[in-house]
Amino acid sequence: MIKWDHWHIEPSSICALRCPRCPRAEVPESLLNQQLSLDFFKNQIGADVAAQIRKITFCGNDGDPIYCRDLIDIIAWFKTVSPNIEIVLITNGSYKTVHWWKNLAQVLDHRDEIHWSLDGWDQDSNEQYRVWSDWISIMRGIEAFQTVNDSTYLVWAAIAFRFNQEHIEQMKAQATTLGFDCFQLTKSTRFGSKYPNAYGIDDMLEPTDSNLVATAHRFERVVTPLTAKTRPGTELKIEFQKRVTQLGNYSGICLIGNKGVFLNSGGEFYPCCWTANRYSHNDSWQGRFDLKTKTFDQIINDTFWTTDFLKFDSLECQTKCTPQRLTDSTHTSEW
Ligand code: SF4
Ligand code: SF4
Repeated sequence: MIKWDHWHIEPSSICALRCPRCPRAEVPESLLNQQLSLDFFKNQIGADVAAQIRKITFCGNDGDPIYCRDLIDIIAWFKTVSPNIEIVLITNGSYKTVHWWKNLAQVLDHRDEIHWSLDGWDQDSNEQYRVWSDWISIMRGIEAFQTVNDSTYLVWAAIAFRFNQEHIEQMKAQATTLGFDCFQLTKSTRFGSKYPNAYGIDDMLEPTDSNLVATAHRFERVVTPLTAKTRPGTELKIEFQKRVTQLGNYSGICLIGNKGVFLNSGGEFYPCCWTANRYSHNDSWQGRFDLKTKTFDQIINDTFWTTDFLKFDSLECQTKCTPQRLTDSTHTSEW
């Protein structure tokens, strides 16, 4: 059965940026700018279900969580109903005020992580991919957060590109100076060598160093701790890895929990964020389960999960969750 103690939530499909490989840029026709409210969580998910959620990763397919008006109140509510919950927030970090970051810093604690997605080392370099990002507000936000909160785990999350491949050590050093606890380098799949029809055979964003490109059809990560601070989430990772050994013939990592069930900014529920992406190969998944019209109990007890779902026959399942990938502990434990 699908595991739902970890949720991946897109609180907002709004973003101030225009990263070229983001679905909001690649599939603009069906993009809706929308966001979830605190009332949605209280009324459509409810405290009883929320109390059973052990981890939430706030990260959008189409937008950035920090542009959700109620984000801080939503996190505070989850912390009230599920006091040991772990929060991971993934953001580009641009344009929020110092006041906002200080308020966020007051609701997060040592169980939580923030990932700032920074692919450059200053305004010009970061904008090579993070188009329309704002380096000054990013730096002010990081500093403001740290003046209030020194317990939350802070991650500099960079994607390897051609423009930064010679600057990775420099970015790592900058992350250390700024007080980050970890530098995470993502080797992406979204390049011409993987998808020549989409990105061309001479993809100017693709690193010329092939060691900086993912080897299969899912990103890969290299994680470098920069401080001695304990990274949250070890207990859950052990639990997720235990579940890998209990999968039998199934290869879906949605049966483990590490990936997280996905709630989009319109209130739709999916087994993972991959199936929710607005690419045409996912059309059959779109709108199948909607928390605006059904309760969570109705959705999770639907016979779909014990019948057709277990065929894992969609393109995403066939490429992302192969049996071979499940033997890779990084694949099953890194988010
Ligand atoms: S910051 Fe994130 S949500 Fe915004 S455009 Fe870039 S990838 Fe998309
Ligand atoms: S791609 Fe398919 S098998 Fe993999 S996590 Fe998503 S729904 Fe599950």
